Amino acid sequence: MKKLLLGNYAVARGCYEAGVKVATAYPGTPSTEITEAIAQYDEIYCEWAPNEKVALEVAIGAAIYGKRAICSMKHVGLNVAADPLFTASYTGINAGLLIAVADDPGMHSSQNEQDTRNIAKAAKVPVLEPADSQECIDFVKIGFEISEKFDTPVILRLTTRVAHSQSVVEERPREEVLFKYKKDIQKYVMMPAMARSRHEFVERRLKSLKEFSETLGINKIEQGTRKIAFITSGIAYQYVREAYPDAWVLKLGMVWPLPERLIKDFCSQFEKVYVVEELDPFLEENIKAMGINNIVGKEIFKLTGEYSPSFIKRAVENNEIEVPYKVKQTLPPRLPVLCPGCPHRGIFYVLSRLKDVIITGDIGCYTLGALSPFNAMDSCVCMGASIGMAHGISNASDKKQKVIAVIGDSTFVHSGIPGIIDAVYNGSDILVMILDNSTTGMTGHQDHPATGYTIKGEPTYKLDIVSLCKALGCVAVEEINPYKIKENVEKIKQLLDLPGVKVVIAKAPCRLHRRYKFTISKRYIDFEKCKNCRLCLSLGCPAISLKDKPTIDANLCLACGMCEDVCKFGAISSQKEQ
Ligand code: SF4
Ligand code: SF4
Repeated sequence: MKKLLLGNYAVARGCYEAGVKVATAYPGTPSTEITEAIAQYDEIYCEWAPNEKVALEVAIGAAIYGKRAICSMKHVGLNVAADPLFTASYTGINAGLLIAVADDPGMHSSQNEQDTRNIAKAAKVPVLEPADSQECIDFVKIGFEISEKFDTPVILRLTTRVAHSQSVVEERPREEVLFKYKKDIQKYVMMPAMARSRHEFVERRLKSLKEFSETLGINKIEQGTRKIAFITSGIAYQYVREAYPDAWVLKLGMVWPLPERLIKDFCSQFEKVYVVEELDPFLEENIKAMGINNIVGKEIFKLTGEYSPSFIKRAVENNEIEVPYKVKQTLPPRLPVLCPGCPHRGIFYVLSRLKDVIITGDIGCYTLGALSPFNAMDSCVCMGASIGMAHGISNASDKKQKVIAVIGDSTFVHSGIPGIIDAVYNGSDILVMILDNSTTGMTGHQDHPATGYTIKGEPTYKLDIVSLCKALGCVAVEEINPYKIKENVEKIKQLLDLPGVKVVIAKAPCRLHRRYKFTISKRYIDFEKCKNCRLCLSLGCPAISLKDKPTIDANLCLACGMCEDVCKFGAISSQKEQ
């Protein structure tokens, strides 16, 4: 049956059709929907893992046991999973193992723009790169075949535009594929003696894969009518095709290892060949390393952000592509903000009022605390980094500098726990604030071990963060209600003055989560009582805007009550003025 499918859903469909039995992930835009969609298939065991390293380890175990497995993550997640990846490249697999990694050129929702192909090359594993949803399905199946034929994990590299665009696919039935488990310590126990011989195997495997790539159907030449030639892959292929429908194109479906003879033959037919790829000059450098010099790459194409057909046309011939329509109006720029009713707002309001404190932040919704009106964050590096960085800053100042580490519940479970262990073990003096909204908010409400629900929404054991922090050796562990602004100011100041590692868990579920029901008692401003001091505006709630005086939009208000707590003149209440 033909239908329109999002790239990520197509990867999920490909897994279903390929007989995948196990799917694991940690949510991360733009990869999250792959695993959410797989969770709809009863035939596939599916889980959110606490982080990408664990997710990959679960998938490796399943593959070695003989069940096709997929592990999905965003590009920065592959850094976390790099440790098992590099050694799984040595052990190889049994049933196929696919690692879907979604890169984010343009950093729509990421802290950097790294290129997964570089890590794959370093780990010596093959990479497939689909250019549309149908290829997402097809390449999943090809990926499993390659994985099993060559005894290797395979990376399926997506980028945001492929992962989040819809195109037509043909759905086919599922085929069950099963392998038997066989104990083999020479292959699966990577002690030095075994690892040395497996490294020899990995190098031989790479050579065989390179040979295989020469005849692999997804590396193909599309003939043109005009003497202009491109080598490209993934979404960049679509842009090239739109800008130059009559060009010669060598479209690479497998982008590592590369088909050297095919590329040499192609390049020998043209005076110059444009290599079009987003992010790093990965193809370009590896093609140049083949001794091919008539290629044009990053000297005209940019190293950062996303490409477009127009950009390619402009770079090649300083010409704009004709677009069928143009939007005349330009939208005013809008900074991202915390949602109305967000419990994090109360904490950042309090933190913004503390003097002489350094606040190390982390990855999640609460990163928005760095922006106006709070400006209550000094750093944000990677998942789980806030606690270690706070400890580092405190130590570097001989404990004279007050430091607060902010982290979310999901991120705490992901990689914050080792940071606390380190800080306690090394006698740190920091305050850790876990902003617990009982979900993974930024990626769209995924569950994690501290929510008490699985990816299928079934109740499960709920990790107790309070008990855990006490067991880790923190001197004080307190739960607070983030909406109680006045009492929280004093509480946080008191805890900050205590020696040792203190933890405050600011606990209130995300107000937009379907699982949690709130009594809606919207707030209104009584203009008679309002002194126009505008303190309520410093909460940064999108429901409060300034006319002559601040006004609350009842359509946006989620009734958290924080503005009522902040107003010193009793002008805000749930009673609408008459
Ligand atoms: S904080 Fe109260 S008094 Fe001040 S502007 Fe807002 S509603 Fe008016
Ligand atoms: S207007 Fe006030 S009560 Fe409503 S969501 Fe914003 S801060 Fe909360």
